[in-house]
Amino acid sequence: MSILHDGYFTSGLDGDPELAEALRGEMRRQQDGIELIASENIVSRLVLEAQGSVLTNKTVEGPPYGRYYGGAEFADAIEALAIDRARRLFGCRFANAQPHSGSNANAGVFLGLLKLGDAILSMNVAAGGHISHGHPATLTGRDYKIASYGVNQKTERIDLDDVRDLALRHRPKLIVAGGSAYPRAIDFAGLRAIADEVDALVMVDMAHFAGLVATRLYPDPFPHAHVVTTTTYKSLRGARGGLVLWNDDGLTKKINAGIFPGVQGSVMLHGVAGKAACLGEALRPEFRNYNRAVLDNARALSNALAAAGLRIVTGGTDTSLMLVDLTSRGVTGDVAAAALERAGLAVNKNLLPFDWRPPESPSGLRLSSNAGTTRGLGVGEFQSIGRWIDQVLRSPNDALMILAIRDEVRELCRRHSIY
Ligand SMILES: *Cc1c(COP(=O)(O)O)cnc(C)c1O
Repeated sequence: MSILHDGYFTSGLDGDPELAEALRGEMRRQQDGIELIASENIVSRLVLEAQGSVLTNKTVEGPPYGRYYGGAEFADAIEALAIDRARRLFGCRFANAQPHSGSNANAGVFLGLLKLGDAILSMNVAAGGHISHGHPATLTGRDYKIASYGVNQKTERIDLDDVRDLALRHRPKLIVAGGSAYPRAIDFAGLRAIADEVDALVMVDMAHFAGLVATRLYPDPFPHAHVVTTTTYKSLRGARGGLVLWNDDGLTKKINAGIFPGVQGSVMLHGVAGKAACLGEALRPEFRNYNRAVLDNARALSNALAAAGLRIVTGGTDTSLMLVDLTSRGVTGDVAAAALERAGLAVNKNLLPFDWRPPESPSGLRLSSNAGTTRGLGVGEFQSIGRWIDQVLRSPNDALMILAIRDEVRELCRRHSIY
């Protein structure tokens, strides 16, 4: 009796037609539509291969060159490569490349550096913060006392006077900056001065602007933050996973223990290889050109939408992402996102600062130039995307018009094929 079915080691997806069909559908979806969701990007063939490699078979625990299991020489080399490249890319002394995700990187840092019940001051989700920074529905929201800052109602930007008042009132042990829907540059030096006043540490979560930091197109968090976290699949255009970066050796043991065994078990080595791959790509000169184009394209899109009469939160962006206020069009974020998806434009609905509507049906959309820039779209194309978005928002129920835009989107995508 055979213990393995035919083709176990030789046939790939042909051996599972049901799964293959869904994957082909996803490939077609990615090829035929324009991805404007800020948490996504399009990885290189190299990153795809690294993440789909035989490393899936290998289990290791602990740091490179200090593993619990044997047979780790190549695992060690791969993880050391990821760490070394992360340190070089961001100009910092230490890195942990093991976090399975951005949320795990944050949870590990909290666990390593804080005590149960310590206070954290972070940005609230309504103002653009991320849920892993202490939202009540997460473990971090249960284990620590969370105080949150927002943005100023007039400027829609972080107001350091407000942050300072909250810090003096709540005496946090950690101040967190960086979010998932904050489009502007953050004053890291200002936050550090506040943290020093109350004897807190500063953590910057740069998931959405790590690529810009790496290429010096955004303020550098490092001289000011004690610890920096990021995902590696958004602006870094790589593996699904996270990174933790820091400079003070006094934090090393605590941070590493917070990640493992604090919040994770064995290493997802295929992901670590994908991180090594994307960090290597980010060290190449082309990555700076890419990030310049990301900024140019984001501004082109934001300007096109503003010229069509849509209000952009804060009036523009310093990053790849922007928030669009739909109030003047009398359409909600959920309805807009569904109509745009029919036109081949993938976006996500998003709360605006001081939004009075619920998260399921908020007043805004979040857009990003990250993925479109990777497939080679330029300023002219992003201006067209702005015009299409404007048209769809004017008549989200006009099926014929949406079909016509769908055709134009498909045609543009054909000229900018992926893989
Ligand atoms: C996306 C994101 C995360 C979470 O990453 P996951 O990989 O989904 O856990 C954390 N922080 C910020 C700021 C993010 O944008």
